[in-house]
Amino acid sequence: MKYLATLLLFSSFSCTLTKNNNKVNDVKLEALTDSVADIYASSILKKDLYKDLSVLASDEYEGRETARSGQKKAAKYIVERFKEIGLEPGAKNGSFLQTFAVDAKNAANVFITLNGQKWNLLKHFYYRGNIKDTSLLDKQLVFAGFGIEEEAYSDYSNLNVENKIVVVNEGVPSSINLEKNWVGWRKKVELAKEKGALGIITIKNNFTEEAQRIGVFIQNPNMQMHDPGKRKADLIPNIYISDSAAKTFLSKISESKISIEIDIQEELTSDNVLGYIEGNDLKDEVVVITAHYDHLGYDNGEVCNGADDDGSGTVSVIELAEAFQKAKNDGSGPRRSVLFMAVSGEEKGLWGSKYYTDNPVYSIEKTVVDLNIDMIGRRDDEHDYDNYIYLIGADRISMDLHVISEKINEKYINYDIDYTYNQRTDPNQFYYRSDHYNFAKNGIPVIFYFSGVHKDYHKPTDDVDKINFNKVQRTTKMVFYTAWEIANRDQRLRMNGTD
Ligand SMILES: [Zn+2]
Repeated sequence: MKYLATLLLFSSFSCTLTKNNNKVNDVKLEALTDSVADIYASSILKKDLYKDLSVLASDEYEGRETARSGQKKAAKYIVERFKEIGLEPGAKNGSFLQTFAVDAKNAANVFITLNGQKWNLLKHFYYRGNIKDTSLLDKQLVFAGFGIEEEAYSDYSNLNVENKIVVVNEGVPSSINLEKNWVGWRKKVELAKEKGALGIITIKNNFTEEAQRIGVFIQNPNMQMHDPGKRKADLIPNIYISDSAAKTFLSKISESKISIEIDIQEELTSDNVLGYIEGNDLKDEVVVITAHYDHLGYDNGEVCNGADDDGSGTVSVIELAEAFQKAKNDGSGPRRSVLFMAVSGEEKGLWGSKYYTDNPVYSIEKTVVDLNIDMIGRRDDEHDYDNYIYLIGADRISMDLHVISEKINEKYINYDIDYTYNQRTDPNQFYYRSDHYNFAKNGIPVIFYFSGVHKDYHKPTDDVDKINFNKVQRTTKMVFYTAWEIANRDQRLRMNGTD
């Protein structure tokens, strides 16, 4: 499950609770009146869950960070399991993988050499802005005052800066009245570029403090989901040095040569893993079961194994796939189709589920539910017993779903269902923090299955030996019966506010 950090905008969310709960009394379990489902529910085994999890949450999988080798390895493992089980490839072109582009930045890969002398990032220089990769070798330097040009004032008059690196003072000359926006860096950088300069170096007064502040961002490699509509970086290199560093070369600036090499952009990919079982007579409609298999990668050199988050949900999806495929092989396959999807990019910001719902393989209109499993293997501090589960979202889009889920729990599982986090006012806002949300925002009924946050959440200590497999198994069975009922009943789940 994703950090709360990027969640800001949901306070005005309106309450949509159920215009049609007058009808909920007529909702019955239709597909669970005999014991057929029980045969396949009983194939969900603790030892199988353990076996898969002890692989996926081992150090070899390097914390399964999106777009990195551990995630790729995990995708491969899940594909192999899906094949072994006998699922059909669920993505396009006969593939189990739905691959999406990721832009990564290795912000530390900026190298500067002055007169053969290497400068160190954050010690001798830092840079700002969204700069693009470039290689400027043995370029001349030229000093251009404050780097300002207006009608009544110019630092560029009689100065040829073309194909050179411009060196400027920070700020504005105190004696002249100038437009306010020269104080920021952007206008100066744009002007230097317009004049034909290849880069700009600003002599910074409080260099050390700024370098420290900026270092936090530069030393953290970051990733973004590739956005083809986004403007590409088009700034020239925008470098800052200390005034003491400037003194040593400004006197001989005309004989100096500088090289600036920037290699920070990385084009990566990540993958959702999709396995599919085609339904019998209602196959255009799809039940989706999701869990994210990506996690955080390393934390200061230690692997974050993410056994609970969300290894527990991932192995649950694999067991669910196996149970449904067994039923299918025995001639008891579901009426609706079922998509088993292990999602990536979740920890980065629900990327994989966003990519899927923006680029669905199966019609969104005919997607009848998303059952999302994220962290189901631990006990949180709010409970002193294990016999509980948090459900989030079940009533928000379809009261039918809520009632079915309640009835299934009563009949098969007997958890204390905790709806604390389903309250719209709950400060944790978990409803927006895992992959079901991308389905919910498309009007698809969802349930988020969750056993709560614990002290190992997002820590290198989220390990397999702390997982309660009894709980993973029971929750997997709860999802199984719910998916079975929804996949096999006559009518698809009714939306709130409709007939
Ligand atoms: Zn997480």
